[in-house]
Amino acid sequence: MDSILSIFKIGVGPSSSHTIGPIVAMNRFCELLGDRVELVSRVQVVLHGSLSLTGKGHLTDIGCIIGLCGLAPKDVTPEKKRAIIDAVFGKNTLNLAGRHEINFIYDRDIFFDDSMLPLHENGLIARAYDENNELIVEQTYYSTGGGFVSTAQELSSPDGQSLDEANLKFDFDSASKLAELCSVHNCSIAEIVMLRESESMSKKAVKDYCLEVYEAMMECYNNGITSSERILPGSIRLNRLAPAIKKRLDTNEKEDMDPLAMIDYVSMYARAVSEENASGGKVVTAPTNGACGVIPAVLLYIQNHRFYMDEAKIIDFILTAAAIGYLYKKNASISGAEAGCQAEIGVASSMAAAAMAMVSGASTQQVFNAAEIAMEHHLGLTCDPVGGLVQIPCIERNVLGAIKAISAAKMVLDGDATARVSLDEVIITMYKTGKDMNSKYKETSLGGLAKMVSC
Ligand code: SF4
Repeated sequence: MDSILSIFKIGVGPSSSHTIGPIVAMNRFCELLGDRVELVSRVQVVLHGSLSLTGKGHLTDIGCIIGLCGLAPKDVTPEKKRAIIDAVFGKNTLNLAGRHEINFIYDRDIFFDDSMLPLHENGLIARAYDENNELIVEQTYYSTGGGFVSTAQELSSPDGQSLDEANLKFDFDSASKLAELCSVHNCSIAEIVMLRESESMSKKAVKDYCLEVYEAMMECYNNGITSSERILPGSIRLNRLAPAIKKRLDTNEKEDMDPLAMIDYVSMYARAVSEENASGGKVVTAPTNGACGVIPAVLLYIQNHRFYMDEAKIIDFILTAAAIGYLYKKNASISGAEAGCQAEIGVASSMAAAAMAMVSGASTQQVFNAAEIAMEHHLGLTCDPVGGLVQIPCIERNVLGAIKAISAAKMVLDGDATARVSLDEVIITMYKTGKDMNSKYKETSLGGLAKMVSC
């Protein structure tokens, strides 16, 4: 059973589907091997579809190597990553599952195959062989966005809802069902999520995880704002801008003369987090790595410029955002490879708008309206990362996603809570639009800006 809060995963950049997902898949492959790991002489990984097409820029190959060493995304540090890379590229060795050293030759053991596997745009196959070149284990994994991973069997099961979920009193599969739960139990969205999560873990564990997510977001922002790295990794050689914006804002005495100066702050918040992601730093999926700057930027905007947020408010913010992300994951997609950038930046903006509306005192219906408005104005947004990197247009999209979220939350607070378009309707519309989208515009870097801009 998935926790609703699993939409927020602490891991590393630059991509949740293309870096964190492959790490998780290879962790699962190590688990599948179990004691047979000692028999393994060689491992082969074949990356398919979008994992192949943008895999190098998104560090999918490195993610697989890290995962094969048994390191979980949350535990990756620059030092551990460096040691693993040095062993593979310097000595052609890999410590499988962290306990069995094998020979690993990058060009022989990692394949890039642009063809799509049948169940999702992000597929990969892992195989382990013994010393006689006999196959020990083969497994196909799909990285379905936001760091979530399923095997082919799990993904093709007829009903996406697990038995455990079906037994949960406070589970919901649509905004209308969630609204009904709120009304029947006289609870806010955050309270319903707390009740739902505490059916499988303690309330203290839920609160602790919300605060851990918040702290990790703030740590990421601080790392981004204080980074001394001038240029982001990759062929584009893009400058990091957040530290310079901070310097200017800290010394800008005339800032209050510009009525739109607040945009610079939101831009700085979102850029700092997104730039940290682009450089492979520690980030939180929200709901993905590519869109990880939107929610922290809105949080920082509220607490630095609007009102004090105590622990209870921070927890409410995280729980409300998670509820909205859960609805998209359940009924549509949070994968740029499956439904374009509307499923990443659009969903992040929708989550942030709802959370901001909630902590600003909006009614349940107004919270849903904020989520709907933010998505409505991201519909059709394509994914065409230049150079296969999570930089252009991704970093600036985080800024604009945050600004749209703030605008959407403000609009509903002034409104009368009526809505001509429901959140459920816009979620399905986003998914259908994504399915209709040409695959050139779904994280393949075969169209759009990726084709137009040389790097
Ligand atoms: S364009 Fe959007 S969906 Fe595509 S990699 Fe960038 S942030 Fe992710």
